Amino acid sequence: MRVGIIGAGPSGMAQLRAFESARKLGAEIPDIVCFEKQSDWGGQWNSSWRTGLDAAGEPVHSSMYRHLWSNGPKEVLEFSDYTFDEHFGRPISSFPPREVLFDYIAGRVQKSDVRKYVRFNTVARWVSYNEDSQEFTVTVEDLAAQRTETHVFDKLVVSTGHFSYPNVPAFEGINSFPGEVLHAHDFRGAERFAGKNVLLIGSSYSAEDIGMQAHKMGAKSVTFSYRSAPMGFDWPESAVERPLVTRFEGRTAHFSDGTTGEFDAVILCTGYLHKYPFLPSELSLQSPNLLYPGNLYKGVVWQQNTNLFYLGAQDQYYTFNMFDAQAWFARDVMLGRIELPSPQEREADIQTWLDRQAALTDHDAEADFQTDYLRELIALTDYPEFDLDTVAVLLKQWMKDKEENILGYRDSIHRSVMTGTMATRHHTRWINAMDDSLSRYLNGPSEDMDTGALAALTGDAEQAGARR
Ligand SMILES: Cc1cc2nc3c(=O)[nH]c(=O)nc-3n(C[C@H](O)[C@H](O)[C@H](O)COP(=O)(O)OP(=O)(O)OC[C@H]3O[C@@H](n4cnc5c(N)ncnc54)[C@H](O)[C@@H]3O)c2cc1C
Repeated sequence: MRVGIIGAGPSGMAQLRAFESARKLGAEIPDIVCFEKQSDWGGQWNSSWRTGLDAAGEPVHSSMYRHLWSNGPKEVLEFSDYTFDEHFGRPISSFPPREVLFDYIAGRVQKSDVRKYVRFNTVARWVSYNEDSQEFTVTVEDLAAQRTETHVFDKLVVSTGHFSYPNVPAFEGINSFPGEVLHAHDFRGAERFAGKNVLLIGSSYSAEDIGMQAHKMGAKSVTFSYRSAPMGFDWPESAVERPLVTRFEGRTAHFSDGTTGEFDAVILCTGYLHKYPFLPSELSLQSPNLLYPGNLYKGVVWQQNTNLFYLGAQDQYYTFNMFDAQAWFARDVMLGRIELPSPQEREADIQTWLDRQAALTDHDAEADFQTDYLRELIALTDYPEFDLDTVAVLLKQWMKDKEENILGYRDSIHRSVMTGTMATRHHTRWINAMDDSLSRYLNGPSEDMDTGALAALTGDAEQAGARR
């Protein structure tokens, strides 16, 4: 059997680790090739200062930015077979910055030695499926050699992510706006918004986080504009929520409640598209960002062609361990360890999840929904079980903490479900942490700072004194 994987982000690497784990336990595994268009693995976590096109002329993939700290507690995404304790050798805080989380997932990849399956700088250009031979032909371009090649596979895994192609709605008059207009995908840091009035259009994670980044970096004011409902957090005084922008007139935005505001910059936090330009329409997932996109049995197997698998296609309360659970399931389907039910039974199963999704009323219910989804997947394979009920409690606590203190929730600490280890408080409160590097994170506040600066940085004069 030949297995092709497109994309070496956390999901694609999970698929490689799933096969490697079976191999270590004595199973015969297929021939596997994973194509990754970038020069390194990591997907979103392999962030770039670039916007637009990368060095090879391909669309920049990552939407991450400087000063991105985990937006959920790390205890929710911990691998059950590779813990934070194992990686760092000591407790760390619950909301680490991007580089620290990337270091953690890199440790997992290194341990399983699966990098060798990845063909870097190789972009999938087109996929076709032959119904008679039941084979996929994948045309890829080796970007370094500038050469196209075709590869034939029996099974194909799509793990290219869905937070990369920006959804960009138009607003009347926006082309006359004299300030900067950008989509969240191209946002790389909020330092330049110091002293500015910033408008964020959108009411989800990107708007919330980029808005608070702008506040942290000294924006004069932050205005969020929502389409359906406000986020409703207890914002700092300089932040406010307004309903949707109806039109722009120069620097002035008009909102649907009749209010107006003058802005220096507009950031469109208007989400992303599921887009798979290398797939023909009959194999291509078309969906808004949902916890359960349709047409995927167990959220993974393409209903009309069960040789095709999608990983990580869901909106995500859970991330790394969900990708693992999906990859272990996909692996076992491919290896014939899990027998798929009839198309009608699969359809009925998909429909059950879609009905349940349609009835979700709030974020807590959504967290429970994805917890149950994971529970079902994990029970089907030998992926190490963990206490999902406690993770669900943690998710709800995190959302409550955000409600109570949007600028402070990242300072709270949680207990690992895997090891029982309690996280430590980070040496610097998030609002004061201006250095998001791995070394600063691990080594503490800079020794050569004067006491005043150190106290300001840590937000804790006593701690500053103690370190001197
Ligand atoms: C701004 C932002 C902040 C986030 N913050 C968090 C967080 O704090 N915590 C958290 O757990 N999750 C966070 N996430 C969610 C994040 O999407 C997941 O953690 C994870 O990266 C998804 O993994 P993936 O492998 O499914 O997709 P991706 O990480 O998107 O990886 C997909 C890979 O496919 C490759 N690829 C794409 N097209 C092709 C092609 N045609 N040929 C070959 N290769 C291709 C890409 O180069 C990339 O390497 C965040 C996401 C965003 C956008």
